[in-house]
Amino acid sequence: HVAENLSRENKLRQALDREEFVLHYQPKVNLSSGKLTGAEALIRWNDPETGLVPPGQFIPILEETGLIHVVGRWALRKAIEDFLRWRATSLAAVRIAVNVSPMQLRDRGFTAEIQRATGVDTQAAAGLELEITESLIMEDVVHSIATLQEIRAMGVTIAIDDFGTGFSSLSYLAKLPVDALKIDRSFIIDMTGSPQGLSLVSTIINLAHSNKLKVVAEGVETDEQSRVLKLLSCDEMQGFLFSKPVPVGVFEELFLRKKSTD
Ligand code: C2E
Ligand code: MG
Ligand code: MG
Repeated sequence: HVAENLSRENKLRQALDREEFVLHYQPKVNLSSGKLTGAEALIRWNDPETGLVPPGQFIPILEETGLIHVVGRWALRKAIEDFLRWRATSLAAVRIAVNVSPMQLRDRGFTAEIQRATGVDTQAAAGLELEITESLIMEDVVHSIATLQEIRAMGVTIAIDDFGTGFSSLSYLAKLPVDALKIDRSFIIDMTGSPQGLSLVSTIINLAHSNKLKVVAEGVETDEQSRVLKLLSCDEMQGFLFSKPVPVGVFEELFLRKKSTD
């Protein structure tokens, strides 16, 4: 078991050295206008032996071994680099959301890390959003609030990921320094199956709006789901219905290239 773990760890270290990690981008769109509003960066490991490996299969190992700090830093820097390149060329530069691991947020040097990553350009912070899971924020609310306040002061926005799965005390929502809330896919699935499922999503959206938060629905796969979400005044959606996560070149070509007739 130890030997197997070591070899997996070594392969991941090698992957880092050989630059085998890639970010795929999935668009978020405004539900009423249909316009692109942003992108989420989702990491994959392009293993030369087996092909693209999804994050669920290696993030836990990166976390166990502490490699998540290096890979997390790489993802932040890569997203910022892509955003700045979009700005510098004639592409429509949208803000990129990067997922943050619990281990990164707990690290006392995390704020300084974001400061350094966004310090490369005066426009960099405007291109970055951090996605933080609800359960992580609730783990240490006082520390989370202080950290998130410092990060937001730099111009970086914050979204609560997988909302609804972390059982947060609703009274905290008003106190959290965040900009958006992403409703977990499991609620979107249940939404069209039962009146209770529908009222739950409706309640989350109203709750978010009364706290002046933007609401994004995750994992939208059907026209029916998108119609219902629009009726419930959900702001944005993300999911296979509009697009799967795609490599950066494809994302630029499909979603960021301005039509020559503009
Ligand atoms: P997440 O942040 O909640 O990301 C959404 C996941 O749902 C992604 O899976 C995405 O591909 C998938 N998804 C999007 N739309 C649909 C849909 O319509 N239907 C279905 N069935 N799935 C959809 P992915 O890419 O496998 O990522 C899984 C998780 O891995 C992410 O969940 C996130 O927690 C983590 N992750 C991804 N990239 C990073 C990263 O750079 N750093 C860290 N720490 N975690 C990451
Ligand atoms: Mg996410
Ligand atoms: Mg999520």
